[in-house]
Amino acid sequence: MHGAAVYNGGMNSVDLKDLLARHFGFDGFRPLQAEIADAVMQGRDTLVLMPTGGGKSLCYQLPALALSGVTLVISPLIALMKDQVDGLRANGIAAGFLNSAQSSEERRRIQQMAFEGRLKLLYVAPERITQQGFHLFLNALDISLIAVDEAHCISEWGHEFRPDYRNLKMLRALSPQTPVIALTATATERVRDDIAAQLELRDTRVFVGGFNRPNLFYSVLPDRDKYDATVGYLRNHEGESAIIYRGSQRGTEDLAADLAEDGIEALPYHAGLDAEIRARNQERFVRDEVPVIVATVAFGMGIDKPDVRLIAHYEMPPSVERYYQETGRAGRDGLKAECILFYGPSERRRQEFFLDRMTDDAERDSARAKLQAMLRYCNPGACRRGVLLRYFGESPRVDSCDACDVCMSETFDATVISQKILSAVVRTGERFGSTYVSQVLRGENAPKLDERGHRNLSVFGIVQNYSVPELRDIAGALVGRGLLAEGVEYPTLSITPDGRAFLKRREQIRLPMLRAPVTKTRRSAKDAEAEYDTELFEELRALRTRFARERGVPPYVVFGDATLRHMARSFPQSEDSLLSISGVGNKKLEDFGAAFLKTITEYAESNEIEDKTSAPEKQTRKPRPAKRDRRDSTTHRTLELARQGLSIQQIAYDRGMTTSTVTMHIESLIESNALPQPERYLPNTNRVSKILDALDTAGGDRLKPVRDLLGSDYSYDEIRLVNAFLKRSVSSDTVWADESVTI
Ligand code: ADP
Ligand code: ZN
Repeated sequence: MHGAAVYNGGMNSVDLKDLLARHFGFDGFRPLQAEIADAVMQGRDTLVLMPTGGGKSLCYQLPALALSGVTLVISPLIALMKDQVDGLRANGIAAGFLNSAQSSEERRRIQQMAFEGRLKLLYVAPERITQQGFHLFLNALDISLIAVDEAHCISEWGHEFRPDYRNLKMLRALSPQTPVIALTATATERVRDDIAAQLELRDTRVFVGGFNRPNLFYSVLPDRDKYDATVGYLRNHEGESAIIYRGSQRGTEDLAADLAEDGIEALPYHAGLDAEIRARNQERFVRDEVPVIVATVAFGMGIDKPDVRLIAHYEMPPSVERYYQETGRAGRDGLKAECILFYGPSERRRQEFFLDRMTDDAERDSARAKLQAMLRYCNPGACRRGVLLRYFGESPRVDSCDACDVCMSETFDATVISQKILSAVVRTGERFGSTYVSQVLRGENAPKLDERGHRNLSVFGIVQNYSVPELRDIAGALVGRGLLAEGVEYPTLSITPDGRAFLKRREQIRLPMLRAPVTKTRRSAKDAEAEYDTELFEELRALRTRFARERGVPPYVVFGDATLRHMARSFPQSEDSLLSISGVGNKKLEDFGAAFLKTITEYAESNEIEDKTSAPEKQTRKPRPAKRDRRDSTTHRTLELARQGLSIQQIAYDRGMTTSTVTMHIESLIESNALPQPERYLPNTNRVSKILDALDTAGGDRLKPVRDLLGSDYSYDEIRLVNAFLKRSVSSDTVWADESVTI
């Protein structure tokens, strides 16, 4: 390693912003991203704690593009590595990976590229670092930055310790001058310190993003009819990706089978499955071939899927950490997603049963404290988000988040009943749990009360209009609001300073209605994000899937849901407009632009919808590869090759594009009558006549019904080509043909 990278050599956040637009197609930074990238550019060691979906990857990917040499990325999972690299390449970024899953030939090829300085990012599995010869290879590279992803894996205190991560010390020793950026979503203070110590970070800048995930809607539903609730939800959200977590391996298989019987495609995932089946099930989920996966805790770390719209917990997990982490896999793309937990009293008993069987005292106490925190989350009295955030040491300023079932439910004036509960807690000496306090208020359980002399208290029997379970829920809500505190070892209630102030000042309080049904209005019309043309969205999704299959990458690598929704909301109908969509960079415009524009334009024309983007203003933002006239230059290049008599396959090969993209170009060219001898590009006459029949029968502009008629033996490409040919014949008869043509 030369260690001679020049940091911050004139590169500032404006230039980074330019790279952000050019390669990723994003118009701005997420919180902290710019600051972090700046610190990295200055050559500082950095430690980044950000929730899942916060956008950690860009914090090193952007500097990697700006710095002179290669950025080494340490990433724990082989499966993820490939997807990440595919994602970068789809954005036109030179990236590669080295791991044990690839052939030695492929490895050599990547090493050679790195060696020649032709890679900006090189992903490496941690176990490679100790391998013979690897040091020699690293020494020969010009490494500008080392990024350690999932950095908590280095710590034994973390929940995903990976001994291989300890090798990273060696890496540091090998290249002491190279700055390091360590990133993780889950780190307590202890783990954080450990990461810094293990990686020997110096003069470190630490960035901590909040734990709040504003796009996640949290709710807890009674577990009585959880199967029906699950089926109902999945039917209402057909095709959306969902993960259902279960506590047992058997459970995952049973539920997946039941769902399949009810017509919902679902696959199980657990550690007991054959490795091959497990990998295949995960793969099919990630590639959108199956919408639902029913999994144990074993499923997760390898999941980088940004468009998971539902995380349901069929059983309660044993801790808030686990719950937060598992729900964190929802909505990484920033779009709304739901987290549903099914809970009922039997759940509590089930968990307590496990607790009682623990033999180690310290372990049991710690597990009990964790369970209590989880139960607090299940309590219907306090904002779910608030409980989560407070658990992680944050103090959310508002009482209501507007995105959980509690905050969305009706409230009632709970002033009097709260005063009574607080008084009863004080009068009984702050030594009892909520059940006992409730019994005192209701005047129940007389023998015990007598024994303790509590029958004579002024609060004895003063409540008749609430049951004991209801009182317990209200007490739980008061804990959630910080007026009461619950003991750690035993759930005894005590009053907090805030609680005393509440009593003294006779403050008003409103609490959520108990067991109120979840309001149905949360996907309301005022929710601007939800407003997009779902029909077009589905067409774009199908197009995305087609490209993804063709290239063997997950669909989100082509375009994420957020980008497709943006398209289905703004109807871009020119390259500039398309470029103004968040998530469309230059490379993707080049590769997929023609196809997406065609679909959108056809749809918009048949529905008379205008282009709603504000492209001109953004045009300057994303530098264009070259000035172009109305005739888009990439299609034009295809035309030049077609004129030389090349076939679609030959053109694709020549231009390093997919045949699908070239087919799109050819279609446009056929339609606009620009292509000599367009018949050359049609399938044989027999197939053409079948396709013509089907087009006739299906009518309309959509190709899916046509394809359905023909069967999977026929490709969309063929159908489109024939369709284009038809359109050409029609338009050549009409006077306005030339004006109506857009390429
Ligand atoms: P993390 O690693 O923190 O979980 P990722 O780096 O995977 O998060 O980013 C999550 C999602 O957010 C990705 O789909 C990514 O494309 C998107 N994203 C990241 N930064 C931005 C940005 N500045 N603007 C728009 N989308 C972004
Ligand atoms: Zn809330």
